[in-house]
Amino acid sequence: MSATPMPRAANAEGAIADPAASLDCRPFSKGLYIDGRWQKASQAHTIPVIDPATEDLLAEVADATVDDARRAVDAAAGAARAWRLTSPRQRSEILRTCYRLMIERSDMLARLVSLENGKALPDARGEIAYAAEFFRWNAEEAVRIPGELGRAPSGGNRILVDYEPIGIAVLITPWNFPAAMATRKIAPALAAGCTVILKPASETPLTAYALAGLYEEAGVPPGVVNVITTSTPGPVTAAMLGDPRVRKLSFTGSTGVGRQLLAEAAKTVLSSSMELGGNAPFLVFDDADLDAALDGAMVAKMRNAGEACTAANRFYVQAGIHDDFVAGLVGRMGALKVGPGSDPSTACGPMITAKAVDKIDRLVADAVARGAKVVLGGRRPEGKGFYYPPTVLIDVSPDAEMAREEIFGPVAAIYRFETQEQAIAWSNDTEYGLASYIFTRDLKRGLAVASEIESGMIALNRGLVSDPAAPFGGVKQSGLGREGGAHGVLEFLEAKYIATSF
Ligand code: NAP
Repeated sequence: MSATPMPRAANAEGAIADPAASLDCRPFSKGLYIDGRWQKASQAHTIPVIDPATEDLLAEVADATVDDARRAVDAAAGAARAWRLTSPRQRSEILRTCYRLMIERSDMLARLVSLENGKALPDARGEIAYAAEFFRWNAEEAVRIPGELGRAPSGGNRILVDYEPIGIAVLITPWNFPAAMATRKIAPALAAGCTVILKPASETPLTAYALAGLYEEAGVPPGVVNVITTSTPGPVTAAMLGDPRVRKLSFTGSTGVGRQLLAEAAKTVLSSSMELGGNAPFLVFDDADLDAALDGAMVAKMRNAGEACTAANRFYVQAGIHDDFVAGLVGRMGALKVGPGSDPSTACGPMITAKAVDKIDRLVADAVARGAKVVLGGRRPEGKGFYYPPTVLIDVSPDAEMAREEIFGPVAAIYRFETQEQAIAWSNDTEYGLASYIFTRDLKRGLAVASEIESGMIALNRGLVSDPAAPFGGVKQSGLGREGGAHGVLEFLEAKYIATSF
């Protein structure tokens, strides 16, 4: 699509106190970032980036073709040997510089994230701090890559295991955390000694391009990180995954696209890490600390206005605490100010697209048709911007579509349960298994329930699980592999076994 309205260009250091003030986005749409240079795509067609708060055009970014993707793989291949031979300490220092630069620019980066994604500024600031932390954490991991030496049971030889960079990695990321989903992959890949091609989501490419300039400044050599945007992710990705020089796919996004990419990766038997969708249960037992459960619910549901893979999707609340919990949640969610993410007083920004709002609307209508009662919100507003208000539904039927699908919006669906067994059975009645939340004052019960729940991550009496120092990931159809902690860098390493006698 070629230019229609002019991209929004305003005061580059515009005061964030003015909701209308925005960044000049043009510096972040200079072309594809390949081999350390901004390069033109081989077609004139561009991808529009829309402000979800106003529906205005923010910028247009380059639209890579299959040929451009091949150029990016060429660049990653050209830089691969020198990068894998840099010393771990050197890689560590560069990653540490990326961290420092991100922190120094966190205000601008948060505003950019908020602008293109729509999330409220406090959420965007939280994301930048979280995203930067992957550089600091992996700067520390780069100098701690493990190795093993053992004696064979026969006593005849030694078993030496060396961990080598797996090779060129293709990284594909979603729009809901434009900074953190990229750095959660780039930082461990670079720590391991891999070169990468990042393909960010079409809705939020500007943050990825802003960060590309920052890596260069931090001393990342040309070709080590390449960033391309495309409106045809299927063929462009297939071309990269089919290239025998590429040895890793790391994807974050929906389970549906993850399944397609796994099928594509099977053709070249490509190592694949998958961070996919979720359907998080949030269990509140009668003995829970009500205030703590409500605090946790607000974080688990309303961080990013519900647009998070870890977002609480199903609130299972025990009968004895149910009414108090509902009253408390309605009070807190009803007090949130809805508005543009760039307005500092906003607590709940717009959704990413009109399509996302349509989906929420459809799920709410379906739940209501099956007997749910709307006790807050539930009606999409008129006018510009992709807004949906904070909404609470009670008496939701376990047959409602929202019990099986990610709502991905500010809608809390509350189900009443009687027994622990019932809550566990309902929690596990899903193809997903990413995050779960449990609130009880009885630690023994909390740990017992945690061990019964089929989920890669459990928050016990907390509303937040994400931590760069911890292994993030899901079971069942929520994914394969882990990001963060000591596990993150292992996804980009391959064990080489050497049998030797000495
Ligand atoms: P999505 O539609 O699956 O897209 C994710 C990425 O895949 C985007 O870059 C997209 O590009 C690309 N893509 C789409 N179709 C493709 C294809 N055929 N071949 C190759 N790439 C393709 O997901 P989303 O809507 O952006 O993100 C929301 C989803 O991500 C939710 O399900 C959420 O739970 C999940 N998520 C999971 C985690 C986790 O850590 N487990 C974290 C965040 C989000 P385009 O933008 O150009 O379509």
